[in-house]
Amino acid sequence: MATERYTADVAIVGLGPAGATLANFLGQAGLSVSVFEREADIYPLPRAIHFDGEVMRIFQAIGLKDAINAIARPGLKGMHFVNADNKTLLVRGGTGLDGPHGCANNYYFHQPLLEQTLRLGLKRFEQVAIHLGHEVLDLTQHSDHCELVVMDQTSQAVQTHRARYVIGCDGAKSLVRRKINAKAVDLGLEQPWLVFDIVLKGELTSLPDHTVQICDPARPMTYCYVTQQRRRFEIMLMPGDERDHLLEPSTLWALVSQWVQPEEATIERATIYTFHSLIYQQWRDQRMMIMGDSAHQTPPFLGQGMCACIRDASNLAWKLAMVIQHGCSDGLLDTYETERSPHVRSFIELAVKLGAIIQTTDPNSAKQRDVDLLASPDKVFEFPAPRLGHGFSVEGHPLVNAIFPQPRLSTGELMDERVDNRFVLICLNPEGLSAVRAGLFERAQILAIDHAWVFTLIGEDHPQIHEWMRLKDLAFVLLRPDRYIAGATTNSADMIANLLELEQTLLSS
Ligand SMILES: Cc1cc2nc3c(=O)[nH]c(=O)nc-3n(C[C@H](O)[C@H](O)[C@H](O)COP(=O)(O)OP(=O)(O)OC[C@H]3O[C@@H](n4cnc5c(N)ncnc54)[C@H](O)[C@@H]3O)c2cc1C
Repeated sequence: MATERYTADVAIVGLGPAGATLANFLGQAGLSVSVFEREADIYPLPRAIHFDGEVMRIFQAIGLKDAINAIARPGLKGMHFVNADNKTLLVRGGTGLDGPHGCANNYYFHQPLLEQTLRLGLKRFEQVAIHLGHEVLDLTQHSDHCELVVMDQTSQAVQTHRARYVIGCDGAKSLVRRKINAKAVDLGLEQPWLVFDIVLKGELTSLPDHTVQICDPARPMTYCYVTQQRRRFEIMLMPGDERDHLLEPSTLWALVSQWVQPEEATIERATIYTFHSLIYQQWRDQRMMIMGDSAHQTPPFLGQGMCACIRDASNLAWKLAMVIQHGCSDGLLDTYETERSPHVRSFIELAVKLGAIIQTTDPNSAKQRDVDLLASPDKVFEFPAPRLGHGFSVEGHPLVNAIFPQPRLSTGELMDERVDNRFVLICLNPEGLSAVRAGLFERAQILAIDHAWVFTLIGEDHPQIHEWMRLKDLAFVLLRPDRYIAGATTNSADMIANLLELEQTLLSS
């Protein structure tokens, strides 16, 4: 696709989890991509340690599920919120069984290994060029391309690159966000926490085998069982804490002395982070877009910041491919923010709510919180599965904009393995499919059925899908490449209308 004016279809600034996932999607779609990453190597210290089942399904979509399974462990027991007396206040559920996405509901991992796996995945694509040790200094947009000024950190040579679109996956201090002039909305949480990672020298039964949020008003803390010998403590800073003193090894060990002693583990790192709850407004300005931490930041109480970055990539990748490769209207790219922003916002708001529970330091408020939560019958909660905001779908049915599960087909395969990253039309029975085909005959140009665009599945051939359709009283469901529901109807005439409306959006939005 690259022409003389562009060195790539898409330039990605930043090769963290967001950039690497997006580059895998675009590489898989056959687009030419230039990735610029300031650092020469992967950031060696972990930040994220948890991702959810939908994210594992996205890794499956980029062909890396097995590789990531090999470096992650399923979270069997979830996350337990306990009070100062070790009484359980709340539990975010966990299980080793397959959940709605055809895999476990949550996983723990070591972030540098995950990033390494995503980067190895990029070696599959000749047309994805990775420029490590290259900092993007500036960018300007023109009517049909963007120009990036890039410095090679080793030689200090400055080069110019051109791409049709630039995606800023450049983290919390994003240059691309500044260029777009996106404005921050603060959702109310800003609090410094000490993050203390250790590696155990051997087995230690005094440490729980799951994540514990210790809601102790005297010193709120989080303990996490990461993978193998890795363990993490997150420790809230209290008034009067001196940062330098907190980071001294003797202070660190004293803070966790009830669980682990210095001779039982080595320190991997200790850093103070300020947890934020920010969402930016305006993720796109013509040919520049932002993704991941550059567009939103959440406190890590739900382990969802990186998950949101990966979901962003899954949402935008197929839209970029539709626009660049297939000539669809680039108005489709505006739906990236309108869909993703409310979705990520609901996770940030929940993390802020949980933060308020964990971070309570007033003893009386903590006592009342304990009384309320201990009396509550709803102790176990799961991750929310919010619907996307308004965008590329035909609204009407309550399931539209929700994610479709990933059932097993009668052949034993998981659904997405069969259908690839395409649109999928699911019909309850073969008669329904015939009716849609007849109704669309010679009318739909892009969303043609039995064309490379839309894969069809007949519910009757696949009992799990049939049962889902029957329970929801639906005859047709249209899935997008990212597996969110774009249309759901009880009859063929309505599905034909849905398909024609969506096609019109692709052609003229
Ligand atoms: C303590 C802590 C715990 C967390 N725990 C979890 C968790 O359990 N689960 C979870 O889902 N999330 C968690 N998160 C959040 C998660 O780490 C981030 O959301 C995620 O790493 C952001 O990914 P990203 O790719 O958007 O940005 P980053 O990982 O920040 O990557 C941005 C990249 O862009 C590069 N870059 C920046 N500017 C330029 C430039 N001008 N030119 C070239 N390159 C540039 C940077 O070098 C960097 O490599 C946690 C965060 C913290 C701090």
